[in-house]
Amino acid sequence: MEFSGKKCLVLGAGISGISAANVLQELGVAVTLSDAKPLDSLNPSLASQIHQGIRLSFGKQDEALLSGQDYVIVSPGVSIYSPLVETAQRNGKLVMSEIEVAYQLCKAPLLAITGTNGKTTTTTLLGEMVKRSGRPVVVGGNIGLALSQEVRGLGPDGLAVAEISSFQLEGVINFKPHIAAILNLTPDHIDRHRNIATYQAMKERIFARQQGSDITILNYDDPVVREMKSRVPGQVVYFSRKKQMEEGIFLADGMIRLVWQGAGYDICLISDIKLKGGHNLENAMAAAAAAFLAGVSIADIAATLKAFAGVEHRIEPVATVQGVTYYNDSKATNPESTIKALEAFSGNGILLAGGRDKNTDLTEFMTLAKEKLDVLILFGEAKERFQQAAQKLGVKRIEITQTMEEAVRLAHSIARPPQVVLLSPACASYDMFNNYEERGRLFKELVHQLR
Ligand code: ADP
Repeated sequence: MEFSGKKCLVLGAGISGISAANVLQELGVAVTLSDAKPLDSLNPSLASQIHQGIRLSFGKQDEALLSGQDYVIVSPGVSIYSPLVETAQRNGKLVMSEIEVAYQLCKAPLLAITGTNGKTTTTTLLGEMVKRSGRPVVVGGNIGLALSQEVRGLGPDGLAVAEISSFQLEGVINFKPHIAAILNLTPDHIDRHRNIATYQAMKERIFARQQGSDITILNYDDPVVREMKSRVPGQVVYFSRKKQMEEGIFLADGMIRLVWQGAGYDICLISDIKLKGGHNLENAMAAAAAAFLAGVSIADIAATLKAFAGVEHRIEPVATVQGVTYYNDSKATNPESTIKALEAFSGNGILLAGGRDKNTDLTEFMTLAKEKLDVLILFGEAKERFQQAAQKLGVKRIEITQTMEEAVRLAHSIARPPQVVLLSPACASYDMFNNYEERGRLFKELVHQLR
C-alpha cells in the first residue's frame, strides 16, 4: 500500500490516532486529524504530541472532511459503523484501522494476540520472553504506545508483538500476523459490535489472511474458539488446561508441556509460575507457545515465567495491612474477569465490586461469590442489581457503599487474617472514574493510607 503523496483523514485523536497521523505525515502524507470532541478537551500532553503541519479539524464532523481524501484511518475508539465512516466507505474511500497502517509499515514478523480477556497479560509476557532472548522486539497495539509508531525502528530481524482488540480488527485490510493467538471469546462489547456473531467474526479476522506457514494458537477449552480451527488457513496449535494432547501445549505431571512436530518439551513446573490464578496459566501457555514458535528457547521461556509478576491492575498485590493482603484487579470490567480472580483465591474473600453495569448475567459470578466470599461490598451504578442477584444466590454478607473511600474503609474495618481484600469490580468504571486505571490507582492510594 502506498502512503507517500496521498491524502489521509485520521479519525479520533487518542494515542493511536495521533501516532498514526504523525507517522503518516513523516512518510509524506497530507494528514487531517479530526475528532468529534473540541480541541481544548484533549489532554494537553497528548495534544502537544501532534506534529506541526497536520491539519486539525475538531468538533462537528461532516462529509466535507472526506473530500479529496485517499484513505480514512479509524482509531479504535471510533466505530466503523459511525455515519462518517459509513459515508466514506460508500464514497469508495479506503477505510482502515491504525493497526493496518502499522502492519503496512512493519518489516518484522508480527505476533498478534486477541481474545476477550487476557490480552494485555499475554502480550506483555510474550514481549518479555522475546526480550530475554535478545532479539529486537517492540510491544504495542492496544497497550502503551501505538503500534504504527513502535514498528518504525524495527528491522526484519526483530519481532513485533501486538495486543489486538476487536475494534482494531474492524478496519483491517491486508493485516496478517505470522503468529496469532485467540485466548477466549465471551460476550463483551456487544453494544458496539451489535451481536456476538459480528464480534466473533471480527476476532477471526486476526487469522483470516494467514497462509500455510502461518500459525494460529487457539484455546482448546473454549468451545467457540476451539472450533475456529476449521476456518484457520494456516496451522493451528491448541493450548489446554484440561486436556493432554498429541500436539500442543498443556499441563502434565505438574508441568507445562509443549509438544510440537514430534518433539516434547517440559517448560517448567506450574508451581514455579509467578502469575496468580488458573486463567493466567492459559495466558502463560499461549505466550509460551507463541514465543517457542517464534524461535525463543525453552530456557528463556521458562525463566520469564518464573520472573514475570503480572501487569498493573490485574490481581496486583498492593499491600498487606495487619495481616490482610489487598489486591487491585481494577481491570476486571466484566463478571468473567471477576470470576477468574475469585477462582485464584481459596476463599475468605472480601470483594469490592460495582461500577457501570454491562447488564450481563450474574448467576455464575454470584454462585462463586457465595462459595468464596465472606463479604461482598458494592458501589456504583450496578450496586442494586448486583445486590439482588447476590441475595438471590445466597451470598453471605452484602454491604452497600457510596464511594470507593467508603468501600475500602469498610473492608478494612471488617477484614481479619486469613481474609484477603480484592477490588475486582466486574463493571466498567465510567460512572465514577475516567477509566479503570484511575479506579485502581485510587484503590491503591486508599490502601496505602490504611497503614
Ligand atoms: P485484556 O487486555 O484482554 O483486557 P488483561 O490481561 O488486561 O486482559 O486481563 C484483564 C482481566 O481479565 C484480568 O484482570 C483477569 O481478571 C481476566 N483474565 C485475564 N486473563 C484471562 C483469561 N485467560 N481468561 C479469562 N479471564 C482472564
